[in-house]
Amino acid sequence: MQIDTNHPVLVTGANGYVASWLVQRLLEEGLTVHVTVRDPANDAKVAHLKALDEQLPGTLKLFAADLLTEGSFAAAMEGCRVVFHTASPFVVRGISDGEKDLIEPAVRGTRNVLGSADATPSVHRVVLTSSVVAIYGDNADARGRRLTEEDWNTTSTANHQPYPCSKTRAEHAAWEMARAQSRWDLVVVNPGLVLGPSLSQSSNSESLAILGDLVKGKLRTGVPKLDMGVVDVRDVAEAHLRAGFLPQAEGRHILVSETVSMLDLANIIRAEHGGRFKLPRNTVPKPLVWLVGPFQGISRRFVARNVGHPLAFDNRKSRESLGLVYRPAQQTVLEHLQQMLDDGVVRG
Ligand code: NAP
Repeated sequence: MQIDTNHPVLVTGANGYVASWLVQRLLEEGLTVHVTVRDPANDAKVAHLKALDEQLPGTLKLFAADLLTEGSFAAAMEGCRVVFHTASPFVVRGISDGEKDLIEPAVRGTRNVLGSADATPSVHRVVLTSSVVAIYGDNADARGRRLTEEDWNTTSTANHQPYPCSKTRAEHAAWEMARAQSRWDLVVVNPGLVLGPSLSQSSNSESLAILGDLVKGKLRTGVPKLDMGVVDVRDVAEAHLRAGFLPQAEGRHILVSETVSMLDLANIIRAEHGGRFKLPRNTVPKPLVWLVGPFQGISRRFVARNVGHPLAFDNRKSRESLGLVYRPAQQTVLEHLQQMLDDGVVRG
C-alpha cells in the first residue's frame, strides 16, 4: 500500500475509542493528521492524542468541530486528501429521544462533513465509519442467512433500535452525496461490536460498557442468548487506513472477526482467569428475559426479535479487498480486560 505523506488527512471525532487507534496508526505512518474534537481544551479527552503526537513520527493538529454546527469541519479539512468520518454518538442506554439524541447528530453530521468535502478541492476520498447495524437491525432480520454487504437494515426506527437507525440513515445520506458528485469517492467500513484495549479513558462508547458489566458481576445471574459479531479495535483502525489509501478500495466492508454470544465472552474470560470475576454461567430462558426485560430497559420487541436468533456474517470482502487479517475474539477480549485491569477501570 502506497501512503502519500505529502498531504494531511482528517479524522473527525478523533478522541473516540475507535478513532484514537486510527490516529495512532496514521501517525505511525508519518502523516500529518488533522483531528477534530468537540472541545480541544478538555484535557481528559485529548491528552492521549497529544501523547501519541509526541511519541510517533507524524504530526497532529487539533481543531474544534461539532456535528450539528454547519461548516464547522471546513477549517480542519483544508488541504486534506483523505477524510475519515468517525464522529457519531454511540450510546444505547438511557436514550429518551432517539431522533434528537442519535439520528439527528448522525445524519446532519454526515451531511455537514460531506458537504465540506464537496467544498474542499483537495479531498479525493472519504472513509465513513458506518456499522453492521446499517446491514441489519435485529438478529431476526438475518433469517438464518449469512449477512453480506448487499444487505441493508430496513427495520430500525427512532422508537425501535434508534442507534441502528441513526447509522443506517447516515450511511444512506453519505451514499446519496457521494453519487451526486465525482471528485471524491466514498469507502465505507461496517464494523461489528468493537472490543479490545482502549487508548482513551473518557469515551462514552457502548463497547467499553459491555465488558465492564460482565466482569463487575452485573450479569452474574445469567445472560440472554444473544449473538454478536465482534471485531478488534486495532483491526478496525487498520481497515480504515487501508480503506483510505488502497486505490482499488470501494463500497462497503463488513468488519467482523467472529460471532460470539454474551456467554462465550464470559467463558473466554473464565478460561483465563478462573473464578476471579463473578461471571455468568448460564443463559436465561427467553420467556424470562421477555418478562423482566422492560424492567431493565430492554423492550419486549427487542427480546422477541434478537434473543435466540442466530447471527452470521460474511467477512470475505474485508479479507480479500482490504487484505485484513483478523485477531481472534479470544485475544481481543483478554487484551481488552488486561487494559481495564492495568488502568484500574475494573478490579479483580
Ligand atoms: P466513542 O468513543 O463514543 O466515539 C464517538 C465520537 O463521536 C466521539 O469523539 C464523540 O465526541 C463524537 N461525537 C458524538 N457526538 C458528536 C457531536 N455532536 N459533534 C462532534 N462529535 C461528536 O464511540 P466509538 O465506539 O469510538 O464510535 C466511533 C464510531 O464508530 C461511531 O461512528 C460509531 O457509530 C462507530 N461504530 C462503533 C462500533 C463499536 O462497537 N464501538 C461499532 C460499529 C461502528 P465526544 O467525546 O465529545 O462525545
